[in-house]
Amino acid sequence: MKASEIRQKYLDFFASKGHQVVASSSLVPWEDPTLLFTNAGMNQFKDVFLGFDKRPYTRATTSQKCVRAGGKHNDLENVGYTARHHTFFEMLGNFSFGDYFKRDAIHYAWEFLTSSDWLNLPKDKLMVTVYASDDEAFDIWNKDIGVPADKIVRIGDNKGAPYASDNFWQMGDTGPCGPCTEIFYDHGADIWGGPPGSPEEDGDRFIEIWNNVFMQFNRDESGTMNPLPKPSVDTGMGLERISAVLQHVHSNYEIDLFQNLIHAAARETGVPFSMEEPSLKVIADHIRACSFLVADGVMPSNDGRGYVLRRIIRRAIRHGYKLGQKGLFFHKLVQDLTDEMGDAYPELRQKQSVIEDALRQEEIKFAETLDKGMALLEQALANGDKVLDGKTAFQLYDTFGFPLDLTADICRERGLSVDQAGFDAAMDTQRAQSRAASTFKMGGKLDYDGADTCFEGYTESSSEGRVLALYKDGHP
Ligand code: ATP
Ligand code: MG
Ligand code: MG
Ligand code: MG
Repeated sequence: MKASEIRQKYLDFFASKGHQVVASSSLVPWEDPTLLFTNAGMNQFKDVFLGFDKRPYTRATTSQKCVRAGGKHNDLENVGYTARHHTFFEMLGNFSFGDYFKRDAIHYAWEFLTSSDWLNLPKDKLMVTVYASDDEAFDIWNKDIGVPADKIVRIGDNKGAPYASDNFWQMGDTGPCGPCTEIFYDHGADIWGGPPGSPEEDGDRFIEIWNNVFMQFNRDESGTMNPLPKPSVDTGMGLERISAVLQHVHSNYEIDLFQNLIHAAARETGVPFSMEEPSLKVIADHIRACSFLVADGVMPSNDGRGYVLRRIIRRAIRHGYKLGQKGLFFHKLVQDLTDEMGDAYPELRQKQSVIEDALRQEEIKFAETLDKGMALLEQALANGDKVLDGKTAFQLYDTFGFPLDLTADICRERGLSVDQAGFDAAMDTQRAQSRAASTFKMGGKLDYDGADTCFEGYTESSSEGRVLALYKDGHP
């Protein structure tokens, strides 16, 4: 079953259970300063859960565009390293706004996954977790559904004070939250990893496919949990992960949609297609995140959301460079993405030339400094140290436009790390110097207009404002 068919099946199933099919919201959260990018299906319904917004329906289902590359749920560093993480992914979700609660949510999930009318997954490959003290959810799984007790793992209380654990889901530091029950698929003993709750749970054998959150609280700024007006349900299933299961492959990157993008990445970087090449996977991942972000109005810039986008684009370019592609290539993948996903997301087609232009401009800009920056980095690493000094990392950042996480990514590939404290110190020195210089020149006023002039080298003055803007959201 192709990913696009699975997406449709999910929506059809929940529509048949009285859910309103609602379109994905933008990746840029609407009037929500607590959130960098949309990171879950529930984001667009936040105010409905909180009781501030009323809808003509109490049940909804969506396939939501999500980006997890910053903020609370940040998977940027996982991409290329795990079989299951992307920066951009689609989250299938069903929602109850004060309508059904735990029992129906669990029954729906199980029916969709295991019924021969729907996905028909083998029950013995599934495992579930419940929040440690959630006897009600445990009993529904065990007594109603018939999942054996040894396949239900309680997670939560062992990891700290109430609700500090994985099985208590929250969108951000504040907002709707609640205990959850998660469904895992066992990809088989030949893959490293252990069941949830075990020391090896971070491996890729047991992959979490679906999270069902029982929304019960609103966490405020002081950390206090206030009960929501009505207990609700919010679920999220990664389309790429469930597609991997149904296509009998282990990694998300092996599903139909990604195979085509990886082929395209190989074509444009001029290397043979290979599933063993992490850089091709990273590029295939990043073209999705970058294209969808531009389609939703984000442009590469030096702060906030635009800087996260810039970092992802530059990481992709650097991976192309690593494969030997020193020319422009990244923007040429937009067509392949549009072919793959344009039917489900027409904004890709509508904005195709805007996306291509934005990526191309960024490629041109970074091409001016990437080669020299890499030479500097190679030189600095030639001494065999295990840690890249902070001064060099800062110079790469300030002069050559290497976001710190990009430098760290290169170092990590070689088993090295970056001296973050040294980087911060170099940044502080730079700020102090530019403050002194601008005070001297301008009697205390900064002498630049904040335009997008960074990454051009020491010939452009590094004014404090510019560096601060770069620094604000730019680092892990
Ligand atoms: P994991 O523990 O694997 O990082 P998660 O617990 O952070 O996942 P949730 O916040 O519960 O994920 O999100 C709901 C679902 O969305 C997950 O069960 C998974 O199927 C999917 N998902 C989450 N993060 C990603 C990602 N980075 N890439 C692809 N799918 C994801
Ligand atoms: Mg996660
Ligand atoms: Mg998890
Ligand atoms: Mg989860």
